[in-house]
Amino acid sequence: MENIDYIIVGDGYAGMFLAHQFIKHGKSFRLFSENKKGASHVSAGIVNPVVLKRFNTFWLAMEQITELKSTLSEIETYTGSNYLVEQPIHRIFHDEKEKELWQKKSQKEELLPFLNLNFTDEEGFKNPFGTGKVNHSARLNVEAFFSDMFRYLENENYLIKERFDYNELNVENHTYQNFKFKKIIFCEGTGVLENPYFKDIPIYPNKGHHLTVELSKPIPKGITIKKKHFLFPKNPTEYYYGGTYDRETKDLEINTSAVEQLQKGLEEFYPDEYTIKEIHFGFRPTVKDRRPIIGNHHQYKDVLVFNGLGARGILNGNYFAKELFEYIDKNQSLSVEVDIKRFVDE
Ligand SMILES: Cc1cc2nc3c(=O)[nH]c(=O)nc-3n(C[C@H](O)[C@H](O)[C@H](O)COP(=O)(O)OP(=O)(O)OC[C@H]3O[C@@H](n4cnc5c(N)ncnc54)[C@H](O)[C@@H]3O)c2cc1C
Repeated sequence: MENIDYIIVGDGYAGMFLAHQFIKHGKSFRLFSENKKGASHVSAGIVNPVVLKRFNTFWLAMEQITELKSTLSEIETYTGSNYLVEQPIHRIFHDEKEKELWQKKSQKEELLPFLNLNFTDEEGFKNPFGTGKVNHSARLNVEAFFSDMFRYLENENYLIKERFDYNELNVENHTYQNFKFKKIIFCEGTGVLENPYFKDIPIYPNKGHHLTVELSKPIPKGITIKKKHFLFPKNPTEYYYGGTYDRETKDLEINTSAVEQLQKGLEEFYPDEYTIKEIHFGFRPTVKDRRPIIGNHHQYKDVLVFNGLGARGILNGNYFAKELFEYIDKNQSLSVEVDIKRFVDE
């Protein structure tokens, strides 16, 4: 039997950012990855402090961005790369009214740092009312982040490339196969719905598709364009465009209606020919109150869940991985807003 501090189940943002906390604090752990591409692996990687429909910000936006930057610098010390791409979001205005709304909202204290008032008219795509830049927005290089993190975890013997089998877990004895652990943390995204210990937590899958497209003419360098969805370069010839939102569809197929929605969205502002190279989808683990769900199993206190990152897997995942670490390792309290206990009386 091998004694370790922690087991993490899941290899998305929740699992990876928690793994970083364990690495940073010298804890022994294993992370289980079933090697399927979950929501994190197909995500756009956008780091965005503003809800771009009506121009609002959200709980802890600036704090989360600051924390993310410091985590990425820490990760750089052991993977050798920083994955933050400084290509800020430029939101295409639909009409003059939207531009006025942006101006009005920018007067609010909480939005002032984010809504840039120097509007720009960009070339290469349709933006007759100009675009507004979101200060402090950026992008994570998702592919490089996961590929380097996996390589590091594998080299350091932290990674187990297997589906975690719930039947082999003995929660009374704290054992799984030949491991004796102190605590186990489930970070399975929507996979939690198959977890016998946490299948009843109120997670609602929200399906999102995105396209990889080849554009016949490049868009301006150094920005991420947003109208209905996000468009940005993945490499010199290919661009990411997405993602859609769909609470109803649960099947594991590519949905034609989502692809059509993306094509329509892209054609609204991209005037030239393009080719669809790939289509991907994933399921966001969303919660009705838009807060993560973190905490212990009601009976087995050393069995925990970290889920509900919603549409903000990067910011929520990183910020609350730190809070979760301080909770389990340093006995600090969890924010009531994210504590699983808020569902106890439901
Ligand atoms: C199209 C799309 C675009 C998005 N864009 C953005 C964006 O730009 N910015 C942003 O911040 N967020 C974005 N999101 C949201 C973000 O992806 C999610 O919030 C985030 O991925 C959730 O992370 P997670 O780790 O909780 O779950 P997941 O990413 O789903 O990871 C859970 C992992 O656990 C694994 N797993 C489950 N059960 C087991 C088991 N028994 N054994 C082993 N492994 C298991 C699964 O295979 C999965 O890989 C997007 C989502 C989608 C679908």
